[in-house]
Amino acid sequence: MGKFKNPYPNLNIDDYSHLYEIDSRFKCSKCERSRKFFCYTCSKFPDTDNKPPPKVKIPFEINIIKHKQEVDGKSTSSHAKILTEDQVEIFIYPNIPDYRKEIDDVVLIFVSPHAVDIKSLLEGQKKFKLKNNYGLARGELMGTLLMKDLNEIKDEENDVKMLENGHEKKSLFLDKLPFKKAIFIDSTWKQCRSIFHDERLNSLTAVIIQHRKTIFWRKQKDVPDWFLSTIEAIHQFLIEVHIQAWGIEKHYFDNCLQDFRYHNTDWIPKEKIIDSEMDISEKRDKEKVPYNGQYDNILYFYSFFYSFIHSLDNPNAEFKSIKLVD
Ligand SMILES: [Zn+2]
Repeated sequence: MGKFKNPYPNLNIDDYSHLYEIDSRFKCSKCERSRKFFCYTCSKFPDTDNKPPPKVKIPFEINIIKHKQEVDGKSTSSHAKILTEDQVEIFIYPNIPDYRKEIDDVVLIFVSPHAVDIKSLLEGQKKFKLKNNYGLARGELMGTLLMKDLNEIKDEENDVKMLENGHEKKSLFLDKLPFKKAIFIDSTWKQCRSIFHDERLNSLTAVIIQHRKTIFWRKQKDVPDWFLSTIEAIHQFLIEVHIQAWGIEKHYFDNCLQDFRYHNTDWIPKEKIIDSEMDISEKRDKEKVPYNGQYDNILYFYSFFYSFIHSLDNPNAEFKSIKLVD
């Protein structure tokens, strides 16, 4: 498939070359609409396909909130739903859950002045830290926390071990993450801001992801190229959380990260770069081994569409007939 340009030559993405050959359409078993590669409304893949897409297991749930004006075929949200094991739900704004009921377990990926980065988040820093993290009632102050039995604090759900012998002490790798669900907003920049102000969302801990340049394919007017598509943002969040929680394989760090065109990789602490062949110090669960491409398949369709659109042999007419892209 030399004529197709792979945007991510170094990532662990399954071979999708058979998708280039598809020239017919299928009827979605749920909505009965005619679709080409998958149904982007129902996030369904044709049952008859003899090479179903890969499934990625992710360490938390994802909710995606789409603006009702977003055209389905332009959105990459359905990629995430199809490519994970029932761990992604898509909601059309304003029909969304009231997240205030699960405020301790949910984070919102959004650029706001109060947003924390992922490293701080995993170290236990949340906007509502004093109110919620250590079982303190509303209005109680830091002094109350200090008077509590330190073991009691240490045993809290949040795994970051604090205040032992007066010093912060934490293990290099987390047993479990301090949140259960991550919310992404899939909309234009302007719509995104108005959704953020919804009271069901705006008290959540906001988290920012590192600058990574989009490989483009729906570059928006007047928006810088670090405004990622939803699926790129999800992938970035996944790997960033994974690296901060469980490290990154040295081989992947050295050879694969270049595909993301980061400005720099200073956000990856040196002690999180692990050479597994050398490292026998910690025995770890399969899902918590250093990052080595475990979530890269979430870019399976994105990579395919990118290469398909950018192939020289692909005439514009066909490009327009594929509604999945813009
Ligand atoms: Zn459908």
